[in-house]
Parts: sequence; structure tokens; C-alpha cells
Amino acid sequence: MSKSKPKPCPFCGCDRISRPYSLAGNAWSECQGCGVRGPWIHLPFGTDPDALIAAATAAWNHRAEPAPGPKEQEGKDADGKSS
Ligand SMILES: [Zn+2]
Repeated sequence: MSKSKPKPCPFCGCDRISRPYSLAGNAWSECQGCGVRGPWIHLPFGTDPDALIAAATAAWNHRAEPAPGPKEQEGKDADGKSS
């Protein structure tokens, strides 16, 4: 796994995403443009900051991906046959 860059903010398009973290094992992503905060990451106390930042980046990028379509993802595997 190599370090990955955070994707631009899905809300305002800003690409300045900071990844604050605490030594207690919490990390998150925060958009410098609109201030939206990404998913919180909780890792064991004393986790390496690089790992915290990488996890926060991965979580942010996962959330920042555009939705696949107008439908919600729930029930994706159910009701497979309709036509
Ligand atoms: Zn933003």
C-alpha cells in the first residue's frame, strides 16, 4: 500500500483536505474549503501517525466516490431479477 492523496471534496470541490489526528488513535479528514469532516477513524492508542493519516485518507476517498446511480445501494444483492 502506498500513500494515496485525498480526493477533492465531494461537496465544494476543494482539494485541500487536511488529515488531523490525535495520539489517542483518532483521525479524520477535513475539507479546508467548506469545513466538512470525513469519517472518523478509531485505531488503537499509539498507532503510528502515518497509519492514522492513511486510514483517514482511505475513508475519505471511499466516501468521496460518486454515487453509482440514483438508487440507494441498499438491497443491492436482493431482487436481482426483474426483467
Ligand atoms: Zn469542501
